Amino acid sequence: MAVIAATKVGSIIAVTAVLTAAVMALGFILLYQFRVRRRISRLLGVISQVSGESTEVRAVLAALDIGVIAYGSNDRLLTMNRMAANLLPEIPETLSDFFSLYGEDNGMKASMFLGSSTLVGTIPTGGRTLVVTVQRRALDQARLSGHIVMIRDISAEEREETRRKEFVANVSHELKTPLTTIKTYSESLLDWGIDEKDKDALKKDVTRLYDDSIRMEQLIEDLLLLSSLDSRGLYLKVETLDFAGLVRAATERMQLMAEEKGVDLNCVVVAHIPKVLGDRASLERIVINLLSNAIKYTEPGGEIYAYVGTIVDDVYVKVKDSGQGIPREHHEQIFKRFYRVDNTGSRRFGGTGLGLSIVRELADLHRGKIELKSEPGRGSEFTLLIPGKRKLLRDTRTMLLEGSRPIDAVGRAAAEEIEANEVLPVTAPLEK
Ligand code: ADP
Repeated sequence: MAVIAATKVGSIIAVTAVLTAAVMALGFILLYQFRVRRRISRLLGVISQVSGESTEVRAVLAALDIGVIAYGSNDRLLTMNRMAANLLPEIPETLSDFFSLYGEDNGMKASMFLGSSTLVGTIPTGGRTLVVTVQRRALDQARLSGHIVMIRDISAEEREETRRKEFVANVSHELKTPLTTIKTYSESLLDWGIDEKDKDALKKDVTRLYDDSIRMEQLIEDLLLLSSLDSRGLYLKVETLDFAGLVRAATERMQLMAEEKGVDLNCVVVAHIPKVLGDRASLERIVINLLSNAIKYTEPGGEIYAYVGTIVDDVYVKVKDSGQGIPREHHEQIFKRFYRVDNTGSRRFGGTGLGLSIVRELADLHRGKIELKSEPGRGSEFTLLIPGKRKLLRDTRTMLLEGSRPIDAVGRAAAEEIEANEVLPVTAPLEK
């Protein structure tokens, strides 16, 4: 009996021990699996963070308006953005190839051998000027240094700088010419002219002095107007205008100049002209400039017509002359500052070379455009087209309904008029 009991106890202990061992083993396995799973999930987190960061870095690089190329510590290409590929005809695989291709003529390669950590050079490529900066930089946590190449297109800045220099040179020249005449004539009058010249000769000299002072005054006036247009400082008093009446009045003001030149000046209104929203002084200035050019460049006996009409929702004034005409290759150029087809001709008539550039900029302020048809010997036809008031109000109403506001003077005036007279449904402003 005692032996049987002892055997039973023994087997119970053995079973318990086996069970305990099994439970413990299971526990260990579960704990191990839990740890492995936790490690994997942590690893996945890190991987997704890293890939998220690299996506962000790529997005930032893609949004930059400068080209960026990175070369690693082994000098091999690591990454680059789209702008770099747009700016350079070829992106070399290694930094040394980069310098061989783009750093020979500008001395960047030589400076690199001298150990400079930042290199700057320009590369003229495909009609553009690029400024390239190469910097040695630590690119990873191991502090291994690679190189970052930054490429900037400075062609527009260069063009602007050249334009500015040309403008200053032109202004100086234009002011110097009449000033020199005024100085020489007044000097000779003071030295001997007043005592020795007869009345007619004196009158001729004083007229010359007067004409040149007027030319300088005109030039300074035009320059001031252009400068306020450039700085967006021109105040426009936008109001509802009778466009046909405005052109008629301007034509009447130019009659004396036309009679003195011996040309026939007419104004013809070809239809019922809708109202416009605009600045009276600017629109008058456009019409007067076009008419005075037509008179200046038309021989005595010639004819000038100012036709006022309407096309769909636009109104126009077409100034047509029977003058000398303008060769095709000058059509675009004559709207540039100081551009003249014939310098002596323009100066003889007191021209500043700024009239048509002012015309185009004032037309732009009215959302208008200037068109030119002309051939040498067959006269010229300058047409100013601007939107009628109805069209301006319609376009502005659409903008307001979409939740945005016009920023130009005529658009703002149209918006004010709509808001004063109509109740528009409230809309959320467009997201910026
Ligand atoms: P300008 O003060 O010299 O007249 P504009 O800018 O008004 O300057 O005109 C530029 C050039 O365009 C003039 O110098 C002239 O050569 C040419 N031009 C302008 N209008 C006419 C026209 N109606 N007929 C012929 N040439 C013209």
